[in-house]
Amino acid sequence: MVIDSLEFARQHGTLSGRLQLANLSRLGDMLFEASGSLNFEVSGESAGRETFLALKLDGALQLTCQRCLGALELVISVCSRVMLIEPGMPWPDDGQIGGLEDVACDAIEASRELDLVPLLEEEVLLALPISPRHECCESPPVVVSKEASPFAQLARLKRT
Ligand SMILES: [Zn+2]
Repeated sequence: MVIDSLEFARQHGTLSGRLQLANLSRLGDMLFEASGSLNFEVSGESAGRETFLALKLDGALQLTCQRCLGALELVISVCSRVMLIEPGMPWPDDGQIGGLEDVACDAIEASRELDLVPLLEEEVLLALPISPRHECCESPPVVVSKEASPFAQLARLKRT
């Protein structure tokens, strides 16, 4: 998952696969269950001297509901783009960071050994609600009445 980012963008490379949730340590705290994976696709783009990485992610996550602490499924579909800034090059102002379709995007420093996992994980984190909750939490399981338990029946037998 490590790429030479500028070269990858200039060559319009693509890389896709599955991102295992268990490998995403920062995301781990928010997950009810860390099994499963998300589909991802990274593709390089360039426009003149500007280079970009387009990031796509989709799949389902099991978050923890902040109210009932139960599992809460969230389906995400992320499409994002980051601009690569060559080391030593001036960092553009926020307003100048343009995507290919004039959509503002984040910028990162280009690296010959760019690890895609933290970059993709960041996109997943940005797509999550701040405080995930069910719209309607399921009511807690019905408590079995004491009378119905075998011990209660036994106690009654002893009393007679
Ligand atoms: Zn809930």
